[in-house]
Amino acid sequence: MAVLEHLEPKKVFSYFEEIAAIPHGSGNIQAISDYLADFAAARGLECHRDAMNNIIIIKEATPGYEGAAPVILQGHMDMVCDLAPDCTKDMETEGLDLACTEEYVYAKGTTLGGDDGIAVAMTLAILDSNDLAHPRLEVVLTVDEEIGMLGALGLDASPLTAKRLISLDSETEDTIFVSCAGGNMSHLTMPLTREPYEGAPLVLAVGGLLGGHSGVDIHLGRGNAIQLLGRVLGAAAKVTDLRVVTVKGGARDNAIPSEAQAVVLVQVPEAVVALCGRMDAVLKAELATPDPDVTVTAQAGETGLALDRASTEKVLFLLACAPNGVQVMSSDIPDLVQTSLNLGTLVCEGDRLDVGFCLRSSVDTQTQMLVERLELLATQLGGALEVSGEYPGWPFRPDSPLRELMAQVYVEQFGKEPKIKAIHAGAECGVFSGKIPGLDCLCISPDMTGLHTYHEKLYIASTQRIWNLVIETLKRMK
Ligand SMILES: [Zn+2]
Repeated sequence: MAVLEHLEPKKVFSYFEEIAAIPHGSGNIQAISDYLADFAAARGLECHRDAMNNIIIIKEATPGYEGAAPVILQGHMDMVCDLAPDCTKDMETEGLDLACTEEYVYAKGTTLGGDDGIAVAMTLAILDSNDLAHPRLEVVLTVDEEIGMLGALGLDASPLTAKRLISLDSETEDTIFVSCAGGNMSHLTMPLTREPYEGAPLVLAVGGLLGGHSGVDIHLGRGNAIQLLGRVLGAAAKVTDLRVVTVKGGARDNAIPSEAQAVVLVQVPEAVVALCGRMDAVLKAELATPDPDVTVTAQAGETGLALDRASTEKVLFLLACAPNGVQVMSSDIPDLVQTSLNLGTLVCEGDRLDVGFCLRSSVDTQTQMLVERLELLATQLGGALEVSGEYPGWPFRPDSPLRELMAQVYVEQFGKEPKIKAIHAGAECGVFSGKIPGLDCLCISPDMTGLHTYHEKLYIASTQRIWNLVIETLKRMK
């Protein structure tokens, strides 16, 4: 019951339908990895499967292309599983129910996995072809991209010889992506000391903010609840003697925090309540455009063992001086944030303060610059910095023969220039750029909407156009 049988390009949609029948959510990739290995074996193609279950399939150059430099085609085999509230499918064990309109393909009640099944389907269609012309192909299909690019980070890249890579993991046909950010999670920790202190307990809170993605939304000027709370605490400490009991804010290092609150003990609570009223008006005015619903509140709380004066001052100092937000804009790509960090989480409880930052830059040496800045701050406060989850950035390459070639084919086929863009977030191209020195790399894909949700759609005519673009680009790689 092939639902997509009538769609073009035929082979692409036929493989897409085969993949959709195999459950392949992130973390559940054994079956799809087996399927890909079997695909290669059935066609006598060289196949490498590493310990992560990543798959590399090699297809030698077609006649006339023996002297051409090889090329990597790349995508990820896992998908995000999301279900409509009324959908009862078990995505761990059941395939998708594909359907289509004139315009697009979707899955009934679930994500479609066009992200990134379309890359798998296109690469298999190319590997299976005998009428396409191309240099030596090195097809890399990774696992678990959607849960932290685990496959790409752990990939055994030793079978790869190519120095150019076309990634098919994006969502718009009008844009060729040419750069992404790398980064890490940095946690600043600091010891705290406490002592009994007599004062009126108040809960000070900043909330109502939009929050957002710590990379792609970092330039929008939205309020950071933790940083704003730091400002409120600093102002409060000027109108009365104040000790911090606890501070807590943010849910994840990689999300802009939308709420934060502190319990404090103060001598003149009325002065702090009045101050919070004024700060509420000040911040509403400052953030009127990007984050108009910000609130600052103060209410009576429960008392607790407070930080001593020195620890209170250190916490206020850190909140006032910690770097946050956009640090460097790109000089090559208009409006691109090159380097940023997000003060995403803060927990000040017991005898320890823990502040989590998400660092991002397309230029790895600038990520390092931020790490060193945070280390200095930590050292000054008697604390330490712990860095984890590092992944490399993908810097813009002013000189890119691959980009020039694809852009030229694009202009011929689409009758207009493609947009050339960078993204201020992680992508597998960054990981590959880190693993393969001198890699010339780009990323494009057919139009898709609603990625990672059960509204996901893959557009049929766009799939045909991107297919034509990719196969013609390969053909010109002589
Ligand atoms: Zn993807």
